[in-house]
Amino acid sequence: MKLAIVGTGYVGLVTGTCFAEVGHRVICVDNDANKVKMLQAGGIPIYEPGLEELVKKNVASGRLSFTTSTAEGVQLSDVIFIAVPTPPQPDGSVDLSFIERVARDIAAAMTGYKIIVDKSTVPVKTGEKVTETIKRYCPAKVEFDVVSNPEFLREGFAVGDLMNPDRVVIGVRSKRPVAAMTEIYEPFKAPIVVTDINSAELIKHAANSFLALKISYINAISAICEAAGANVEEVAHGIGLDERIGKRFLNAGIGFGGSCFPKDLSAFIKISEQVGYEFRLLKEVQQINARQMDRFVKKITDTLWVLKDKKIGVLGLAFKQNTDDVRSSPAIDLCQRLIKEGATLRVHDPKGMDKAKALLKEGVTYVDDMNDVAQGCDALVVATEWEEFKQLDLDLARKNLSHPIMFDGRNLFDPATMEKLGWIYKSVGR
Ligand code: NAD
Repeated sequence: MKLAIVGTGYVGLVTGTCFAEVGHRVICVDNDANKVKMLQAGGIPIYEPGLEELVKKNVASGRLSFTTSTAEGVQLSDVIFIAVPTPPQPDGSVDLSFIERVARDIAAAMTGYKIIVDKSTVPVKTGEKVTETIKRYCPAKVEFDVVSNPEFLREGFAVGDLMNPDRVVIGVRSKRPVAAMTEIYEPFKAPIVVTDINSAELIKHAANSFLALKISYINAISAICEAAGANVEEVAHGIGLDERIGKRFLNAGIGFGGSCFPKDLSAFIKISEQVGYEFRLLKEVQQINARQMDRFVKKITDTLWVLKDKKIGVLGLAFKQNTDDVRSSPAIDLCQRLIKEGATLRVHDPKGMDKAKALLKEGVTYVDDMNDVAQGCDALVVATEWEEFKQLDLDLARKNLSHPIMFDGRNLFDPATMEKLGWIYKSVGR
């Protein structure tokens, strides 16, 4: 099929590439001319495992191309996906101005029937607004359908998630666009859930809020484990084997972050408020998340006492492993808090350093090799769960530190082993 994706970021680029990979002809649109130039020249603006090879392969086959013109994307396609940002506003509600802008741009270029698919995460009833906007701004007054098709990919695993989705949600107002949407997703062999548009929009916020809730739940348990002398990993294992609960998302740490969970949670609280329901449970999920970081910072200050003029090595800047994304990263938040207390930092992240440089400047030295981070530091902090940090040369790190102190916010190391090796080792919930 002929598809356009408006917004070529984490979601748009991966979606467009995977659609091309299964045989569709895809044109990706972005209003960031530098990004489009880079993609047209064979560069990739984000790090996502497996993506670069797929982009190159599909560009070479002629199935994937890039443009800055939404009009061109609309003219060349039957189905147009919207994958632009939906950032939070100061009160937690969603800024829908990007969606509205794109709806108008699409409307202006439509000369025949099109299916417009919202893939961005949006509040319930946004589909209705998009429909109204397109009707109003389409001079040709042609027929069209608006579809909600929320995206569930995880950064760091996005290609795999796109190629093997747990389910595909398609929210429609009439039957007309269902056949085309089913054909687009047919190669992925996933269960397809067809709903009304409002339900599809709600599924995304309800799913992300539930996952955030699961993380806050285990983080609350980690606080109890610390106070009671239990081990959160053993508790998580014991409860996760119950299939009704499941093992995933039960890793205690320094809290959730990233460009989705915090904003989607605030949005869902706001959306619920607007329809007359006070979602206190989700407010508490936010509070637990904030307290989890407070508790971790307190662990550092309880041990190091005064942070002013201390040098701290930090492993990890990305919001999770396998990504270069540092947006709303708990690791960045942690660094900012340590800097505010007067510490200077030596930091390393396998993929996130370039993007972190825009957020962390004063008092930060970026170190290329993880094994050099500890040099001259008073303590080492693990802030992101990169697998490769488990290969850290612990002997060298001990020699490089003034004292062998590690605060492990991701429980990467085994407490008993670390103590045997002579470390003062503080982790989460154990
Ligand atoms: P992103 O910031 O990485 O990418 C968005 C892209 O849209 C940018 O390249 C930007 O230049 C472009 N853009 C903005 N306005 C435009 C316009 N008027 N015309 C053309 N392009 C425009 O964002 P993202 O992480 O891909 O997220 C997009 C949406 O998908 C959001 O609603 C997000 O909540 C949702 N989502 C994200 C993830 C994720 O893991 N990142 C997962 C599921 C859903």
